Amino acid sequence: MNLILMGPPGAGKGTQAEKIVEKYGIPHISTGDMFRSAIKEGTELGKEAKSYMDNGELVPDEVTIGIVRERLAKDDASNGFLLDGFPRTIAQAEALENLLADLNSSIDHVIRIDVDTEQLVERLTGRRVCPTCGATYHVTYNPPKVEGICDNDGTELIQRDDDKPETVRKRLDVNLQNAQPLLDFYQDKGYLVSINGDQDINQVFHDIDEKLGGLK
Ligand SMILES: [Zn+2]
Repeated sequence: MNLILMGPPGAGKGTQAEKIVEKYGIPHISTGDMFRSAIKEGTELGKEAKSYMDNGELVPDEVTIGIVRERLAKDDASNGFLLDGFPRTIAQAEALENLLADLNSSIDHVIRIDVDTEQLVERLTGRRVCPTCGATYHVTYNPPKVEGICDNDGTELIQRDDDKPETVRKRLDVNLQNAQPLLDFYQDKGYLVSINGDQDINQVFHDIDEKLGGLK
């Protein structure tokens, strides 16, 4: 089963990805991991990607797509894959279509985990950090033993500027604006499966599993 996983930050993609790969026996292929392993293995494309990254430049699509091609050709992806973080643009999505067509394959489903913006803001602004030891907490999901105080060293916890509501809202807006063309692209192709992410983790997975046919 060839899958793409999409969703805004805070939607719980990582957790669902773990559950999907476990049940369906396919590798979780995230862009970051893919780049790191190409660079570590010292492939030509890995070296090329590294030279851009070392200069603080964006890796061009042709290099990224080459790395995706190499990754998808590995044995563990022969029965499918779960792509995460790729594609990010229509150009990349079209290149992926062509690449899979060359392999006599295609995307089966694009899973989009949807969560209401205000719910995401609540999740993403709840993070608190200890300025002394760097420990992170969440006011709802992972609270310290004493409110506002680090368990390790008793330091008063702070909220990073990145986690303040205005910043988080802006980040979510940009994310949605960037994702929308891709969502439209996959909707038109009939691949898009929207999942309500405003639910308990197990219920979200149940819904995904149902759409993928795992409950039949
Ligand atoms: Zn601490």
